[in-house]
Amino acid sequence: MPVYPRCGVRPVRGEGVYLYDEDGTRYLDFAAGIAVNALGHGHPALVKAIAEQAATLMHVSNLYGSPQQERFAQRLVDASFADTVFFTNSGAEAVECAIKTARRFHFAEGQPERHTLITFNNAFHGRTLGTISATNQPKMRDGFEPLLPGFRQAPFNDLAAALALVDDTTAGFLVEPIQGEGGVSVGTPEFLHGLRAACDERGLLLVLDEVQCGYGRTGTFFYHEQVGITPDIMAVAKGIGGGFPLGACLATSHAAKGMVAGTHGSTYGGNPLAMAAGEAVLDVMAEPGFLPHVEAMGARLRGALEQMIPNHDHLFEEVRGAGLMLGLKLKSDSRRFVAHLRDEHQLLTVAAGENVVRLVPPLVIDESHIAECVDKLSAAARVYVAASDD
Ligand SMILES: *Cc1c(COP(=O)(O)O)cnc(C)c1O
Repeated sequence: MPVYPRCGVRPVRGEGVYLYDEDGTRYLDFAAGIAVNALGHGHPALVKAIAEQAATLMHVSNLYGSPQQERFAQRLVDASFADTVFFTNSGAEAVECAIKTARRFHFAEGQPERHTLITFNNAFHGRTLGTISATNQPKMRDGFEPLLPGFRQAPFNDLAAALALVDDTTAGFLVEPIQGEGGVSVGTPEFLHGLRAACDERGLLLVLDEVQCGYGRTGTFFYHEQVGITPDIMAVAKGIGGGFPLGACLATSHAAKGMVAGTHGSTYGGNPLAMAAGEAVLDVMAEPGFLPHVEAMGARLRGALEQMIPNHDHLFEEVRGAGLMLGLKLKSDSRRFVAHLRDEHQLLTVAAGENVVRLVPPLVIDESHIAECVDKLSAAARVYVAASDD
């Protein structure tokens, strides 16, 4: 179905931070499959793990015991707030599981009327009927009604407005601590701590969607660690498989109390092949220098962008985000500039809401890639202006 307005770049091969298309043209990849290829393209450890597991055992279904799944789940539990994990094949499925877990918690508590999740303007949680019901963006919802009841939206970063929506039907809050598609908008500490406090006071659940901002992307394993809060339930995906389709819903055992045998499932979710990919990514990320490297590269990229902005202040407005999830806000349409970067300067980025150019490179970039990226951005800004002045 022609649901994507695809561009002319047709990659056939990847190597580290670079993609090569059919004609052999090389692109600097600061899109990373939309914040997915955390280890870049063709990382030897990931490639080897997938190849070996494919030859050993690819899939058996969740009807059987799974040493591979138990091992990876235990590692995620050990490295996070969570006590329990459900594996999915995508971000939207991880959010679906999170929504079901939240509803089912209140059901198990004898309060099934508490089924409404408060979500936020500009949110993006995926494209299933459940996850589009959780956003209020018309471009995702129009024509797909009737949607799922049980969601109400407040403005992002407006704690008072969110709290004003809480009533006897509220199950909790579902929030991206940094909105990705919405424009790399960072949730303020006051806002996120306020939601956590409200949950603690009123027995509500804090459900974080860290599908994009989690898994090393911002220099800590999960972004909420930097904020100093913990969720009750969290959706993870994108970077977790390094390009292999994988997602996970993590929860405390308290929040997951309703998720008993038979309440949820997935044919593929957590199969041995996916677990091998997940473990290979985690092995690399767990190396002592990995997350500090992300933090250092994030600071460096941000610094370089901030230095560049005044030279092109007719076009660039500000830098937002954290770690290697950065947004360059433009004073004009970002989609057009993203196309210009791609077609004229062989730099791949992703457009986001609020005229933001998203920079979400592989987490393994080094200084040379940052220098190359900023050179390309500056060169693009110079001619872009010349072109639009004509
Ligand atoms: C990408 C994304 C999703 C959806 O993930 P899919 O794998 O496309 O289903 C959900 N939430 C956030 C915050 C995302 O960035």
